[in-house]
Amino acid sequence: MKNNIKKTLQTTFGYSEFKPNQEEIITSILEGRDVFAAMPTGGGKSLCYQLPAMLLSGLTVVISPLIALMKDQVDAAVENGITAGFINSSLSYEDADNVFYLLKSGKLKLLYIAPERFAVEGFISRLQNINLSHISVDEAHCVSEWGHDFRPDYLLLSRLREYFPNIVISAFTATATIKVQSDIITQLKLKKPLRIRASFNRKELYYSIIRKSNANQQILEFIRDHSGDSGIVYRTTRKDVESTSAFLNKHGITSLPYHAGLADDERKRNQNLYKKDEVDIVVATIAFGMGIDKSNVRFIIHGDLPKSIESYYQETGRAGRDGELSYCLLLYSRGDTGKILYHIRNIEDEDEQIRARNNLSRMISYAETSVCRRKQLLSYFDEAYPGDCGMCDSCNDEVELVDGTVDAQKVLSAIKRVDERFGITYIIDIVRGANTVRIRQYGHDQLPTYGVGKGESKNYWHRVIDELLGQECISRDEDQYGILRITEKGKQILYGNKTFSVAKRYSTMKSKVTADYEQGNEALFDHLKKLRLLLAREKGLPPYMIFSDKTIREMCVKLPQSKNSFLAVNGVGQVKLESYGDDFLECIKEYSIKS
Ligand code: ADP
Ligand code: MG
Ligand code: ZN
Repeated sequence: MKNNIKKTLQTTFGYSEFKPNQEEIITSILEGRDVFAAMPTGGGKSLCYQLPAMLLSGLTVVISPLIALMKDQVDAAVENGITAGFINSSLSYEDADNVFYLLKSGKLKLLYIAPERFAVEGFISRLQNINLSHISVDEAHCVSEWGHDFRPDYLLLSRLREYFPNIVISAFTATATIKVQSDIITQLKLKKPLRIRASFNRKELYYSIIRKSNANQQILEFIRDHSGDSGIVYRTTRKDVESTSAFLNKHGITSLPYHAGLADDERKRNQNLYKKDEVDIVVATIAFGMGIDKSNVRFIIHGDLPKSIESYYQETGRAGRDGELSYCLLLYSRGDTGKILYHIRNIEDEDEQIRARNNLSRMISYAETSVCRRKQLLSYFDEAYPGDCGMCDSCNDEVELVDGTVDAQKVLSAIKRVDERFGITYIIDIVRGANTVRIRQYGHDQLPTYGVGKGESKNYWHRVIDELLGQECISRDEDQYGILRITEKGKQILYGNKTFSVAKRYSTMKSKVTADYEQGNEALFDHLKKLRLLLAREKGLPPYMIFSDKTIREMCVKLPQSKNSFLAVNGVGQVKLESYGDDFLECIKEYSIKS
């Protein structure tokens, strides 16, 4: 079986190696054991159900909530030579009939459907009467009410197990929240599933933050440095989407807007033009991106502060699916905080309001501290990362640091003098000399540290504490009311053996770093991209479906001259070799002769 899996990976998908966890998941599905897998965007989840579909005797049904995505997924599978189809409300009666015909004849390997299909009279019994091998639930977090994207239709899926007691079920999500993950397993009634929680590190993404002064101008400069690359600019309001898009167009960068205020067909049209590389830039509200799997998004710019780290992570995750170096730039200003707070104050549900506040304050401390961005993002998902990733502004000395040893000592000393038994708010109160009953009751107004930090605001001290936490000089005990304790590193600072630096709010932006792998010739790369665009137009497909940027990069490095060496490029499978091999080989040959 192992050999078969590997062979299919090569011939159908054109890849020589599995991505982390893929092989284990696929083996489990083929052995009939349920699977739950949380893997980041770009982790290669589709292959985990598409590959077994080629090897199982019966049909694989994939349940996916995004109708727009469904057609793309089917197109991509067909490009690789997998017989695939979909049924959803967008399909004409004839087309649906055709799919049912293929189903009955047993020719279909892979069928995509939307969850609401299960509510359609007779659909379940239709499935029960065919040779079904595997049901896969993609975007499985939609089943959880704890998730950010809950869909009532997904609740129908909790009955899958009843209807198909003996069929292997797999579930996939890119949601990193542990609570949602367990909820998915319960809701879908997975039987002793293989549980995979992949690392959520996106090593191909470069994270940086700059101080927002003139957003449109800053966005323009960044895009000019990345000309020819495909990117998304996120703005919070429709008005800003329009203004940024118009500004870019005025300055010679063609961009299209995308937001809920546009007419349906205009929105669809803009999304399509972006997906098909007919325009490089889309300026959008955060609703944009869920419906597309475009793998060659090379940068994401956030023109405004996102409301939580979770959303920031998911939105930036839309870049670099193909594994090529991509950039995530955030323009940050304290002013945005006020706007978000204004909305938070209008939230009626009290718990939800508290959650929103917490989310915002985590986001602010992400933006304001000097700690490795990757370390902070991953720690939000309880994943430890040593830091100094080399792929963020903090790790690249782009963040200007100032000495903050004395202020750190003030905080550390306060924590020590109250015997490490209090949380953030209380410590700040002591440092600022607040006159509260609680402090008087404990007699803490008599401490030598009481009031040593009067001169600075609460926000300021919050930031110092965030830095201390981020740099692991103190720790916070979540199980014990969030009390603060001093770590070994913190002690060194307290006793003056070590200094402590804080971020002096942003720096200039180095908008490009060099990739640490071979890039090949840039002119050939542009050339092959053009060829890809032409072929894609002919076929009416998005270019990334023909070959990913990564695959084209590899062609530029390996310069294949024969069918065999072309096939050896990652991402070239048998069917794609036949469809596109000649055109690409000719182009590469021409270039090789010239140079
Ligand atoms: P996800 O659904 O997890 O976000 P996708 O299934 O869309 O990710 O895959 C992301 C990209 O990774 C796609 O371009 C896909 O072709 C590519 N990919 C998947 N598996 C492999 C592999 N084993 N080697 C190289 N690339 C892969
Ligand atoms: Mg996916
Ligand atoms: Zn870093």
